[in-house]
Amino acid sequence: MIDLHTHTTCSDGKDSPRTLINKAIIAGVQVLALTDHDTTSGWSIASESLRGTIELVLGAEISCLTTDGISVHVLGLLFDGENAVMQQMLEQTSDARLPRMRKIIELMRADGFDISMDDVDAAKPYGATLGRPHLADALVAKKIVKSREEAFMQLLNNGSKYYVSHAAPTPAEAISVIKSAGGVSIIAHPFASLRGRILESTDFQELVSAGLNAIEVDHRDHNPQEREALRKIAEELKLVVTGSSDYHGSGKLNLLGENRTHPAQWELLESQADKRRVLRG
Ligand code: AMP
Ligand code: ZN
Ligand code: FE
Ligand code: FE
Repeated sequence: MIDLHTHTTCSDGKDSPRTLINKAIIAGVQVLALTDHDTTSGWSIASESLRGTIELVLGAEISCLTTDGISVHVLGLLFDGENAVMQQMLEQTSDARLPRMRKIIELMRADGFDISMDDVDAAKPYGATLGRPHLADALVAKKIVKSREEAFMQLLNNGSKYYVSHAAPTPAEAISVIKSAGGVSIIAHPFASLRGRILESTDFQELVSAGLNAIEVDHRDHNPQEREALRKIAEELKLVVTGSSDYHGSGKLNLLGENRTHPAQWELLESQADKRRVLRG
């Protein structure tokens, strides 16, 4: 079982990297990618937690914005974690999340919500990449909503009056930086239309020119028609097809291994990195 997209307490997941590895082993995952939002801070603990035969793929999910303001997530796998340009991009994107959170809170306070940056800090694990799920957790702690799901549905989704984007690279920029750091890139849940505006089929060619390697087709947020359309695009553009859980621990319903990548597709993707960087215990 190959699962190439998961989150931990280093961003907005609920399991620590160590717990993630343990749960993945129990679930029977054979190849697991760690892809926290805009950070590689979980890499060392995850690597130290390896045992048995599980293989670990280190990565990150980079929050991007198109020039039209569409939010796009790019998964970077198997890049050199010490690459300065890559780390600078991750740092800039995660730093931009604080002023953005302040703006969201300001808008909510102006509407009478009793929520502050201190509440969000209290809900966020130390050092984690700050995100809306932490604000959701703060709203749950304050009994304003019952769950992350409800927080997103009512207040925090991309179409909400409280939505604010943050400075971020374009998808093409992120893809070329990942490539220059020796890694491979996957466009994450590109047709997840419930989240907000999405890319069009014709946008993929430019990303391929920037060095895109794969499309995440099998993902909980894609319906059968969306998966079919993406499979066609992948075939036309000779891109690898992946499937993954986007696991967030108890922070989302997504279960480890609920969507998977075919071994032959993984083999092809892995061969496109500049070095063999898969880790074993
Ligand atoms: P941000 O990085 O601050 O833009 O927040 C985006 C994160 O919120 C993504 O990683 C999603 O996993 C998470 N998210 C989006 N919608 C929901 C939802 N309905 N329930 C829980 N988490 C969500
Ligand atoms: Zn997330
Ligand atoms: Fe994502
Ligand atoms: Fe994700």
